Order: sequence, then C-alpha cells, then structure tokens
Amino acid sequence: MPLIVQKFGGTSVADSQKILAAARRAVRAHEDGNQVVMVVSAMGKNTDLLVDLAGQITDHPRGREMDMLLSTGEQVSVALMAMAIHSLGHEAISMTGAQIGIRTDSTHTKARIRSISTERLRRALDQGKIVIAAGFQGIDEESNITTLGRGGSDTTAVALAAVLEADACEIYTDVDGVYTTDPRVLKDARHIKRVSYDEMLELASLGAGVMHNRSIEFAKKFSVPIHVRASFKDAPGTVIAVAPESPDRPVGGAALEKNEARVTILGVPDQPGSSQAIFSKIAEEAIAVDMIVQDVGAGGIADVSFTVLKDELRATLGAAQQVADQLGAQRVAHDDDVAKVSVVGLGMAKQTGVAQQMFRALADAGVNILMITTSEIKISVLVARDAAETALRAVHQAFWLDREPPAASADAAHVLPPRHASDAVAVVARLQKMEELAIDDITLDETQARLTVSGVADTPGIAAAIFEAVADGGIFVDMIVQSYGRNGKAKISFTVPQAQYQQCFDLLEGLAGRLKCGPISGSPQVAKLAVSGIGLRSHTQVAIRTFGCLASAGINVDLINTSEVRVNVVVAGRHGAKALSCLQQAFADCMQ
Ligand code: ADP
Ligand code: ASP
Ligand code: MG
Repeated sequence: MPLIVQKFGGTSVADSQKILAAARRAVRAHEDGNQVVMVVSAMGKNTDLLVDLAGQITDHPRGREMDMLLSTGEQVSVALMAMAIHSLGHEAISMTGAQIGIRTDSTHTKARIRSISTERLRRALDQGKIVIAAGFQGIDEESNITTLGRGGSDTTAVALAAVLEADACEIYTDVDGVYTTDPRVLKDARHIKRVSYDEMLELASLGAGVMHNRSIEFAKKFSVPIHVRASFKDAPGTVIAVAPESPDRPVGGAALEKNEARVTILGVPDQPGSSQAIFSKIAEEAIAVDMIVQDVGAGGIADVSFTVLKDELRATLGAAQQVADQLGAQRVAHDDDVAKVSVVGLGMAKQTGVAQQMFRALADAGVNILMITTSEIKISVLVARDAAETALRAVHQAFWLDREPPAASADAAHVLPPRHASDAVAVVARLQKMEELAIDDITLDETQARLTVSGVADTPGIAAAIFEAVADGGIFVDMIVQSYGRNGKAKISFTVPQAQYQQCFDLLEGLAGRLKCGPISGSPQVAKLAVSGIGLRSHTQVAIRTFGCLASAGINVDLINTSEVRVNVVVAGRHGAKALSCLQQAFADCMQ
C-alpha cells in the first residue's frame, strides 16, 4: 500500500477550523488507499509565544528547559489533530518524538537526528490508523527532550519519509509552493514548478524560510521527492527533486537573510592554524558560521570576517574575543546592521558573467557591497540592512526571475519522480547515519591563478567595474572573495585560469588608476581544493576539519569559500598534492 507523509506548518493548523481542514485532507488520502503519516507543527505563532515567555523570565534560559518548553507546542497540535480525525470517523494516534523513537544528539535547540525506529509507526499504520507525529522534536540518549531548530518540522517530515521509504512527502504551508524569492518580500516573485535539491538546499540555507535547510539535506541524501503545496487551495505546488526547472537559466532563485551580523577579527597572524583556532572556538558554542571570508594576508597579518545570525552575535563576540586574545590578534569588530542577498542556480556553473551581472545590478541600484563569496552555484553579497530589499529587487529583476522560463521544462511539473529502487541493506546502512555529514568527493584543481585588488574604495560600482572589465577581456573568473574593508578600503581576490593570469594582471593594473584602487598582487599558480557533499555548512566542524588538517601539515589557507554543498580553499600551488592527501585523510570517515 502506498505511504504518504503530509506535513502541516503552523499557519495550516492555526485554529480549530484549520485543524479540521488538515484532518479532512489526510482522511481523503487515507480513503484513496494510502497509509498516512501526518507531521504537525505548533499552532500559529505558538512557538514564538513560548520563546517570548521564556525571554520574560530570563535572558539565558538553559537549552534543556527551552526544549522542554518548545516541544509542548507540537504536543497540543497532535492531540487536537487526532481528535479531529476521530471526529471524522477515522482511526488515528498522536505521538511525540519520544514515542516514535526519534533519537537525536544532545545539542539542545538544534539537535540532529541520529536514528528513528519504525516499529511502532508501522504497527499503527498496519492497523489502519493515521499516525500524527509531533514535528521538530526528539529525545537524546538520556531521554531528555530535544528540538531540531526553528522550522524543524520539515526535517521531521522528510526524515520520516526517508525511514518509511514513503512514496510521497507533501509539505502543506501558507504559500502554494516555492517562489523565485520570498513572495511576502517581493510581489514580483514567481512560482517555481520544479527545483533541484542543490538549489533548494542553497536557497533554504541562504534565507528562503519556506523549507528547513536540513530537511533538504535529508531529501537529497535519501532521494525523497518533496512536494510543497498550499494548505488552503488546490494548486499544483512545487516539486523538489533532482532536476531544476530551467537548467539553462543561470539563476533560479534569490534569497534574503535579513538578520545577519558581521564579525571581523582584525590583525590575525597570517599563519597555519589561526583560522582553525577561530572556527573551533566558535563551533564549541554550537554557533553555525555563515559567510566565511578570509582573504590573503599582507605584512604577516590577515583579517578574518564571517557572519552569524544576529541572535547569536552576543555569544559569538564572547568567543571571538577570547580567541583573538589567544592568537594575539589586534581586535574584534562587528556590525549587526547587515543583510545577505544571494542568487542561486545550477546553470551558473556553466556560464560566465553571472557575478558581474549581479554586481552591475547592485551598482545601478546604488547598493554598496560589503562582502562577497561565491561557489559554483551561488553568489552571496553582504549589504547594509536598509539596502537589503532594494538589493533583492535589483537582482531579481536583473536575472529575469519575474518572467516564466522557456516552456520546455514545464511538462514534468506535477509528476513526482520515482524513488530509486534501493537495496534494503544499503538503505539501512545509510539510515544509521541519518544527519551525519556525507562527503562525496574531494578534488584538487591545479589550473588556477589568484589575483588580488587591494585598496578598493568601499562605494557602489567598483566590483561591477572590475568584473565587467575582466569579462570584456574574455577572462573566465572562478572563485570570488571580497573581504570586509578596513578604513573604508576593501580587498577583492579571485581566481582565473593560469594561462590568463598575466593578461588579467595587466588589465587590472590598467584599471587601478581609473578606479583609484591597488596595488594589484597575485600568484600565477595556486591550488584550489574542493570538498563536496551534503550538509557542509550546517555541520560546524567541516570548516574546522579543513583548516585543522591543513594547519597541521603547515599549509596556510589563502582564500576560502563555503556553501551548503561545497567548501573551497585556495592554497599556494606547491602545496596542492599534500593538501589533497591531508583532506582525504581528514574526511575519510565520512566519505560516501
Ligand atoms: P510553515 O509554518 O508552514 O512551516 P513557514 O512560515 O515556515 O511556513 O514557510 C512559509 C513562508 O516562507 C511563506 O509564507 C513565505 O513568506 C516564506 N518564504 C521565504 N522564501 C520563500 C520562497 N522562496 N518561496 C516561498 N515562500 C518563501
Ligand atoms: N514549531 C516550530 C517552529 O516554529 C517548528 C516548525 O514549525 O517547523 O519553529
Ligand atoms: Mg516552516
């Protein structure tokens, strides 16, 4: 019998009528001959209210008690949902995370799932019951209640779909699918029929709150097709699976994360081990670092900048100050008035000029870029918070996201792709790892050179002018890093093919006078190493492992770019082979 997981978010169960409507949807699926597992969030804004209540008592609630409190929201919803289904004349049973057997680690308020037992669920389903699972919660080894992080009910749903090898995982919410950007922020946002796991993974972690990013990690790892749909109307929704909507378009979506804060540790000794010390310290606090921007040092010191969510700034600053003292760095600076705007697209990897087009759109809208990081399928810029919406609108328009893509790819829109037929033993083996880090590949690219433009005025339009000139010269730019400016001057580094190094150097020298920047420096031969996999950024230890193993081999990291699916580092060309073998060893335990 087919099995469907249906998840209902907070707005979809906000009052008794909505709970009854959701119950009717599940009953319909059951009557159509499916086994049904519902995953339910707390009603309406209940989780926010609970967070607020805790805040009225203390500024520092302990994680364990926070989880005890927050998990009650979902407990209310599942009980009411079971009653609703009973009232419709069907059998149903509500279950908490503990009753299902969702085991997690003990990182309170952002726990990761370790295993899920399926016996009780299966038994109830085989008895013809609709199972109603509380989203967002589990228990650790000591039976303490844990929660998976805000928005985590999506992850519960996809994880249950994975362990039960469900035929479909439907996410019911207050929008009728995934849009090119948040439709509440930009009314020109366009509905997308199909989005790839990789794009959704990036979009979700770059601020597209429609799906919890870890749910997409799960979906990709276990090939769970997701269908995001509207609770309150019958519309086709969006399928999240392997293929993108429009592979030829460079950009498929844009995201805004408004609540970012930048931290810069100035004057860090530019030597192996410094970055590792910094990011290990931050990770000890279980803070997920977002944009990491480390540019080549000068005069034996480098500045290391990164962003975190604004809520975590206070804890981050404490840790950053301690590590700065320990390393003998000059000081720690921060800015909590920043936002991150990103564009994402699988097509970007195959096209040149995407970065330049984004920088031009921002320059024309008068938006100053504070930091830049890129990866194969995304470009993120940090901007002042009050410029965030202007920036989002500008890039959304520049990449024609408000317009339908060419019709060719629209056909398979409503069809859920079949699950991979999988060998049961292999599935069990993978499931034992659940949310653990999974590395697919570690590669070394020895074809690149690095160029660095220092003294870049911190005003709109400079990045656009540089990358337009570089593109006009027919030069293919790979990785771009713009670090936070000191005294109003920023530094932009990027990599190009070695054969184009001299041409690019000369071109930049010619440009430096006009743009009032410089000097230009570079290295004609660098090694770029890429670690690819799933969950790289949400697993805080990935950057640390990368830095740690390179540091212990005495290799200094010149540039770093991180994304959800890849961590790129650039080191001196002569260290390439050694760096590759260090990384292979460091990640041996999580290679797929
Ligand atoms: P739920 O309570 O159902 O989990 P959420 O509030 O978590 O719902 O997610 C739905 C919201 O996500 C939408 O109301 C929308 O404002 C927001 N959102 C952000 N980015 C996007 C996007 N790219 N596409 C669709 N919705 C988005
Ligand atoms: N109720 C939790 C939250 O608001 C989990 C969820 O809705 O996904 O974050
Ligand atoms: Mg949600």
